[in-house]
Amino acid sequence: MKTVVLKFGGTSVGSIERIKKVCKIIYSYKSKKNNVVVISSAMSGVTNDLVKKSKLLSNNFNKAEYDALLATGEQTSCALIAGRLNHIGLKSRSWQSWQIPIITEGPHSSARINQVIVKELKKYLKDGGTPIITGFQGINNRFRLTTIGRSGSDATAIMLAKFIKADECIIYTDVDGVYTTDPRQHKKAKKIKKIFYDEMLEMASLGSKVMQPSSVQDAKLNNIDIKVKSSFISKPGTLITGSTKTFSNQIITGISSTKNDAKITIVGVKDKPGIAASIFKPLSKNLINVDMVVQNISLNGKETDMTFTIKSDDLKKTEKLIKQNKKISYKKLSFDKDVSKVSIIGVGMITTPGITYRMFQALALKKINILVISTSEIKISVLISAKHVKKAVSVLHKEFKLD
Ligand code: ASP
Ligand code: MG
Repeated sequence: MKTVVLKFGGTSVGSIERIKKVCKIIYSYKSKKNNVVVISSAMSGVTNDLVKKSKLLSNNFNKAEYDALLATGEQTSCALIAGRLNHIGLKSRSWQSWQIPIITEGPHSSARINQVIVKELKKYLKDGGTPIITGFQGINNRFRLTTIGRSGSDATAIMLAKFIKADECIIYTDVDGVYTTDPRQHKKAKKIKKIFYDEMLEMASLGSKVMQPSSVQDAKLNNIDIKVKSSFISKPGTLITGSTKTFSNQIITGISSTKNDAKITIVGVKDKPGIAASIFKPLSKNLINVDMVVQNISLNGKETDMTFTIKSDDLKKTEKLIKQNKKISYKKLSFDKDVSKVSIIGVGMITTPGITYRMFQALALKKINILVISTSEIKISVLISAKHVKKAVSVLHKEFKLD
């Protein structure tokens, strides 16, 4: 008998009608003779609402109570699902994370699941039951409720699939899969049938919000295939996997772009060992995330220019920190607030030469100027003026035959 883990996100259980629909989906897996384990998020909006309430009571709300509060959202949705499944004739019950237990370690609000005791669950499955498990939470070694970071139900599903040794883990959400680029912005975006973990990680961290990036990392580490599907319409979704079986020979899998980036150039910095560290130390201390970095070779061996990107929101603070920094001297500081990073992603580029050239040439033909370039094994990113992003993504989408 196959064991499947089904995870439903907040919008999938966002109303009574949606919960009825979800129960039909669960029923269909049961009638195909599967063992079914369900993980649910809170109904959409509920967790945000609880956060708001805690803020109204204290701007320094007790961290353990904050987790105890946020964990209630999933208790509601799971009980509603189990109750409805009973109604339509399935043996089912809700399980809160402490009842299983799902054991976490690390600080409140960002704990990590390190063990799931599956003994009772297995017995229940064997007796034909369908457990409905609260996502996003666990308990720590002091028996306090913990939560594992916003959108954490994805990670709960992956970890349950791991410990119960599931054959499949299916993430039901409000989109029907992962797209080659943002389908709301680009009509020609296409659904990806199969994507490698590493590609998905790049896509996720670059802004395609289908899955929580750390849960993709967990899936990769444990070699668990994930299917992303819509609970709204019945269509094949996207498979996220490490297996190379039947992959197409597509070179580029997807294109992503960022919003709200800013570029800073420090002109004429004294070039000596430790200079980069001196520039970035105060930024990291202030939790400012630096993304692309380029340092020019200094022609005279004395001075260099340093360019890097950050989020626009951090621009004012960064400017202040650089101006206050006594460890560096430079000639000029310049800023560009309206820049975006466009990236092409695909494991195919490891084995295919000429991708960089094709990307640059395609942008050049559209007269799009490249400000900064950075590359990894499976990704090439360029920084361009924000006003050209849409055009750039379209032309690259076409160039790499994703249209
Ligand atoms: N309900 C939690 C949140 O809104 C967890 C989740 O949705 O996965 O962040
Ligand atoms: Mg969610």
